[in-house]
Amino acid sequence: MAAKKSTRKFRTEVAELLDLIIHSLYSNKDIFLRELISNASDALDKLTFEAQTRPELFAEGETLKDLEIELIPDEEAGTLEVRDNGIGMSFEEVVENIGTIAKSGTASFAAAIKEAKEKSALAPELIGQFGVGFYSAFMVADRITLITRAADAPSGVKWESAGDGSYTIEEVEKSERGTRVILKLRKPEEGEPDWTREWTLRDTVKRHSDFVSYPITMMVTRQMPQLDEEGKPIEGSTKEERKKDVLNSMKAIWARPKSEVTAEEYNDFYKHLSHDWSDPLTHLHLKLEGATEFDALLFIPERRPMDLFMPEMRHGVQLYCKRVFIMDELKELLPSYLRFVRGVVDSADLSLNVSREILQEDRVVRAIRKALIGKLLSHISELDDETFLKFYKEFGIVLKEGIHTDFENRQKIAKLIRFKTTTSGEELKSLDDYIADMADGEDTIYYLTGDNPATIAKSPHLEALKKRGVEVLLMTDPVDEFVVDALGEYEGKKLRSAEKGDLGEETPEEQQAAEKEATPFMERLKEALTEKVTEVKASRRLTDSAACLVSGEDQASALMAKMMRASGHTFGDEKRTLEVNLGHPLITSVKELYESDAGDEKIGEYAELIYDLALLGEGGRLSDPADFARKVSDLAAKAIK
Ligand code: ADP
Repeated sequence: MAAKKSTRKFRTEVAELLDLIIHSLYSNKDIFLRELISNASDALDKLTFEAQTRPELFAEGETLKDLEIELIPDEEAGTLEVRDNGIGMSFEEVVENIGTIAKSGTASFAAAIKEAKEKSALAPELIGQFGVGFYSAFMVADRITLITRAADAPSGVKWESAGDGSYTIEEVEKSERGTRVILKLRKPEEGEPDWTREWTLRDTVKRHSDFVSYPITMMVTRQMPQLDEEGKPIEGSTKEERKKDVLNSMKAIWARPKSEVTAEEYNDFYKHLSHDWSDPLTHLHLKLEGATEFDALLFIPERRPMDLFMPEMRHGVQLYCKRVFIMDELKELLPSYLRFVRGVVDSADLSLNVSREILQEDRVVRAIRKALIGKLLSHISELDDETFLKFYKEFGIVLKEGIHTDFENRQKIAKLIRFKTTTSGEELKSLDDYIADMADGEDTIYYLTGDNPATIAKSPHLEALKKRGVEVLLMTDPVDEFVVDALGEYEGKKLRSAEKGDLGEETPEEQQAAEKEATPFMERLKEALTEKVTEVKASRRLTDSAACLVSGEDQASALMAKMMRASGHTFGDEKRTLEVNLGHPLITSVKELYESDAGDEKIGEYAELIYDLALLGEGGRLSDPADFARKVSDLAAKAIK
């Protein structure tokens, strides 16, 4: 039944990536070893987890203590093997995992590659972001052979590639479970390390993989003195002794006192854990005592992972119980709005050998989650300005989801959010700063939502507010709609949309009289637009534009309606109120026409035009652009004559 050997092509993006790795990534080649060891360590974690419910995955007599990662250098053959007895891969898994790049990021990856090519620079961080650690081995190897057998598979798989666009794959016999990655090393260039040398490997493991929680072993040869009958060394006579040596200390970094962990150790640990190639933006090392005791070491990455908005994103931190790995990606440990956090939680209060389902309901897990959220939010609020802004740029949009979903921490999160405003330029402003800059007696926080800051900053809805010198928050993330909705008010100040309802202006008497006088005209407009608007009103928020559309207090904003439609919801054009600026020449001219004996028949057409102009002003889409273009051209032609 063994499948024949077949040659397959890499997907294009893999081929391009390999090419870049081999040709442009010269510095820090030694990280390939950390990547292969991390993969092996992950495979051992997966086995540990699976074996809790399926002990038959272990061979007879085998225990957790037998799990290891072995380095096998062969100077004569010029090879280095990284071998693990972890979960292994099936034929399909090899094709899926090794022949493609992080499925979720493929499109963005292709774009990033293109950009990197144009700049003819490929930052290592870029590669890390896509989870392509395995391929980094092509920096030091001109051929890679991977032989693996999944824990429950009858036979193994051999995959081989010279990194030249294709690979071969075939079924093979393999007696033990796990994975062997054999690198046929390139000849080291001048000054480059030789990856078959014991001391090179020892040193690299010590620097980058010391805390890996499984032993990383290697057979070493020592020249031992020959002993005579009395046990004394015989001068000038030695014998070779081979023994297995463990290269890493396996010290759980999170269990050590903070003062003893160096910045470099934190960074390396983060890279091991996250498969990111950049240092983290910040870390939080906790030791909690009390009702629930646990150690935690959490990191916030410097950049968004590519899959931040993908449903299948890896999310959650690793869970340990007294240094023993329990499971990865336990989503219940952190809420979705903190899904970018990476790290480890270790608690002696957890029971080992429980299923994921039980842990999801676990009281201890819930207590840890609550504590982690509190500590993380405080940590974020204490970041220095520069770090905070970096953080906010990458993850603010995700953090904001918490205002909508985490009632308990809503106020804390609200303190952290930032917006551009009509007066802040490029700067981001907190709600507290907005309030501090409010005029005396003002008790409303004004905002406007839309999909583009430049467009909404010029929105007609803002005209009167601008004239009054009122600052308005410009909200352009889709999630902002939910943010304001959930928040309602902040520090006792009501949040109010500049495109909804009345803005509570005082109206001078003569204006009231003018409005009254224009009532029949506005009634006529409404009649012409019954299909489209609920009401036509004299506007108190416009100064320069002719008209705008306003939602009721309880109605969806224009952006919300657009988003609902974009996400496939049937969301009819909800009718809104048309506000007209009675002082605007277009409106006064149409009014005069209406009042003249001959004009009324044209009113319907002008009403449509006014409506379309209002829609365009808020960045909306016309239902019949061709018709609009025709009307405007006719008008322009007349005006020119
Ligand atoms: P990443 O590890 O960042 O996901 P890699 O390209 O290094 O990216 O690995 C791709 C996938 O291949 C891994 O996610 C894992 O599923 C699988 N894999 C790699 N090495 C091993 C191994 N030693 N044992 C089992 N699976 C492995």
